[in-house]
Formats: sequence, C-alpha cells, structure tokens
Amino acid sequence: MDILDFTLTELEEYLVAKKFKKFNARQIFEWIYKKQVMQFSEMSNLSKNLRAFLEENMNISSFKDQFVQTASDGTMKFLFTLADNNIIETVLMRHNYGNSVCVTTQLGCNIGCSFCASGLQKKKRDLKASEIVSQILAVEEKIQERISHVVVMGIGEPFDNYEETMRFVDIINDPYGLEIGARHITISTSGIVPKIKAFAHQDKQVNLAISLHAPNDRLRSDLMKINDTYPLRMLIDAVKYYIEHTNRRVTFEYILLDHVNDELSHADQLSDLLRGINCYVNLIRYNKVEEFSYNGSNEVRANHFHQRLLNRGITATLRKEKGGDIDAACGQLRSKKIKESDGL
Ligand code: SAH
Ligand code: SF4
Repeated sequence: MDILDFTLTELEEYLVAKKFKKFNARQIFEWIYKKQVMQFSEMSNLSKNLRAFLEENMNISSFKDQFVQTASDGTMKFLFTLADNNIIETVLMRHNYGNSVCVTTQLGCNIGCSFCASGLQKKKRDLKASEIVSQILAVEEKIQERISHVVVMGIGEPFDNYEETMRFVDIINDPYGLEIGARHITISTSGIVPKIKAFAHQDKQVNLAISLHAPNDRLRSDLMKINDTYPLRMLIDAVKYYIEHTNRRVTFEYILLDHVNDELSHADQLSDLLRGINCYVNLIRYNKVEEFSYNGSNEVRANHFHQRLLNRGITATLRKEKGGDIDAACGQLRSKKIKESDGL
C-alpha cells in the first residue's frame, strides 16, 4: 500500500482500525507533506511500534527517474518514470502570483481529440492518486519552492479517472497535506457530462474548466469525438447545472485553430451559445503538433476573435503561451520520448 494514496480521513480510519491513534494520521501527513520527510524511520514523534508497522505495511512511492527541460521563461517540463517504467509528463509554470504545476492523470488518453498529442497514445491505464500527488512533491523537491497552483490539464481526461483525481485534490488541498487552496486548483475536462454533474456535488471550491473549442456540434464533433456522446446542448445543460449548485464561475477553454474555428462567425456563435452563463472564455493559440495538419491562429486572427467576443459582452482572455522554446504542447514531449525509446 502506498501512503500517498490515502486522504487524511482514510488514513485516520485505517490507523484507528489497526488500533493506533487518529491523530497519528495528522502527524504522518505533516512529515510527508509539510516537512518532505519520506522515511518512516525519520518520523521521530511516532511511536516505535507505529514506525515498525508502517515500515512493514506501507510504502512512500517516488519516481524511479526524472528528466527535466527548462525554457527561457522558466517553464520546466518533467518526465517522470513510474515504478512500472511508464513515463509521465508534468509541467511547472512560473507566474508572478506563484508556481503552478500541470499534472497528468492517465497514461495516454482515450478521448482522442483530433488535434491533441496526448490522444496519440491510447490510454494504458489510469494513474493512482499517489502518482498524481508525487508529481507535485517531485517538482517541489526539485525547485525547493512551494507550489501554489495546480492545473489538472496534463495528459489524460481527469473525469475518466474521477475517483483518483478527487482523492488527489483532497490530499493536496488538506491543511495537513500540501495545503493548496481549492480556488488555486483547476480541473479541465473534455466534457464528460455525468461527471460534471457529480462534480457539482463535491462540495469543493475547485475551479472547473471545460474544453469547448467549437461553437457548434458539427465542428465540435470533428475536433472532439466525445461530442457525439455528449453534444453541446447536454454539455451546456450540465454546466448550467454545475453553476446552479455551486454558484461558481466556469472557464471555457477555446484553442484557436487557424481557419478551422477562428472565424468571426465562430466568435458570434460562441457568444450566442454562452450568453447569460456565468463563465469566462480562455482563448489559447494552438501549439503546433507535428502529427496533425492543424496550425495555431496567427496573432492578428487571435486578437480579432478575442475582440469580437469582448464586443459581444463575453468575458475572455487571450492566454500567453509558456515554454514556447521547448516541446510546449500538451503531451508532445512524452510522445517524442516514447517514439525515441521505440526506435521510431
Ligand atoms: N483532457 C482534459 C485535460 C487535459 S488537456 C481536457 O481535454 O480538457 C488540457 C487542455 O489543453 C485542453 O483544453 C486541450 O484541448 C488543450 N490542448 C491539447 N492539445 C493542445 C495543443 N496542441 N495546443 C494547445 N492546447 C492544447
Ligand atoms: Fe484527451 Fe484532453 Fe487531449 Fe482530448 S484534449 S485527447 S480529452 S487530453
């Protein structure tokens, strides 16, 4: 058993069932998440008995290997090797408001959006909470600084790995854990409607982002085949349901693909679709992926699109890319490494 898979409540219950004290769980959490002590033998305020029990029954996992690329703006890309030799990708972005980490939740992605490097590899398996938590711990260790923000926007569809993603959020948000504020955590989904509704009842102040990328069903289905299962009307209804139950504003992500979804008529359709919804639109110029013919919109087209949304009363930002001089696009670095190791 990996102790990084336990939420505080789960660890308390487990230890009590094993005749230890409930507060021992807090002590262990503090050693791991506050003091970054990864050896049970060094947890000096635990009884000998408990330390021996933990040594015997628990493990604190860490990655077998790591590879780091640093961009000129300070963005760092990590490749971590898991216990079973699979490789995952994690990104650190430096902002004036703090350090933000983008985590991976699955090995590959089954949603297979037509523009996305992450979907090039079918999902091998879901990551466990411990493997997602470890990404943050490993980055903190590397830079010797605290991570203040987390975006669940790496490889994988977090709502296709719902339970482990929620467990991860619980652990990093816990005051005895990494204490990353819920409002500083954002989960991005391609639009798995039943999970958006479930998430509405999670009672967490975590931000929700929806990858929209198109303002009508025909175009969205071309880009994201998940739209055939959960078309726009269902998706928008689920988002409204979420807002009703949480009173929280939702982010819509919209990647700008040159001459695909970046016409002013698309901006008009988008503003009609989102009118009256408590949301904002995050425009992102698409990062070129070799394997696909799509190109990112140029600056002029991106600015026109942005301005059109603003003129039509939609709150929108045009995001500046980070890490432009390294393999910046989601899943690109990992897919390159996998190809290298396959000798392609
Ligand atoms: N599977 C989830 C979360 C991971 S993807 C989702 O789809 O929301 C995180 C975001 O990066 C999504 O909005 C996705 O569409 C976007 N993305 C994927 N490839 C990209 C690329 N090459 N350039 C810019 N954004 C990309
Ligand atoms: Fe998967 Fe998200 Fe990429 Fe689509 S955009 S393939 S859902 S990771």
